[in-house]
Amino acid sequence: MEDCLFCRIARGEIPSNKLYEDDELLAFYDIAPQAPVHFLVIPKEHIESCAAVTEENSEIVAKAFALIAKLTKELGADSFRVVSNCGEDAGQSVPHLHFHVMAGRPFAWPAG
Ligand code: AMP
Repeated sequence: MEDCLFCRIARGEIPSNKLYEDDELLAFYDIAPQAPVHFLVIPKEHIESCAAVTEENSEIVAKAFALIAKLTKELGADSFRVVSNCGEDAGQSVPHLHFHVMAGRPFAWPAG
């Protein structure tokens, strides 16, 4: 999408601190980290949120989770949290599907 922030990051129009990139996925560090390790995994394809995942486009979600497992292993994080905020009330501020991956501190449950 033309003016979507994460589409623009995926196209390289806005710089990011990249951790991983392939044709379909991008992982980059969050600009406002909430944990010692905090990165985002996004599909390059514009999918608005978890609510827009369908049988047709869901393969990328499995690939994103495989990437999360690989990157957290590489970073030595055996305990981590994966969050995807879906919708305004859940705290979604960027309407492009993304998975927050956070590690390096204990996390409370239930989430706030
Ligand atoms: P959410 O609020 O769940 O939609 O998550 C969006 C996340 O994107 C927030 O944690 C922001 O800190 C992060 N963010 C916003 N702009 C950028 C950027 N230019 N580079 C990296 N992370 C960003």
